[in-house]
Amino acid sequence: MFEQITASEVAGYAVGALLLSATISAPKIDSFISSSQRSSLGMCKRCGDVNRIACRKCKGSGLIRQGGPFPLTPIVSQKSTSLSCTYCAGRGCFSCPQCSSNQP
Ligand SMILES: [Zn+2]
Ligand SMILES: [Zn+2]
Repeated sequence: MFEQITASEVAGYAVGALLLSATISAPKIDSFISSSQRSSLGMCKRCGDVNRIACRKCKGSGLIRQGGPFPLTPIVSQKSTSLSCTYCAGRGCFSCPQCSSNQP
């Protein structure tokens, strides 16, 4: 039975299974490794010692684009104007709560 399977075939199966499992579990492993790496390095798990967290609403730009998300807005006012993000007050980021709590 087993003699009929060549070594290259076995290697092919092994690589295929490895690739499949890696593809499925890659994001999980990646986040696990990065968080464990950060903690082992003494870095903040939340921000990686950047001390800042990007604003979720403006994605760190500090500006909110007007006109896009409102389909009922008249075309005249649909200029690509940007307003300061009210969520982060235009800063685009927040200071990391985990870092600020760790600081003396
Ligand atoms: Zn913001
Ligand atoms: Zn932090």
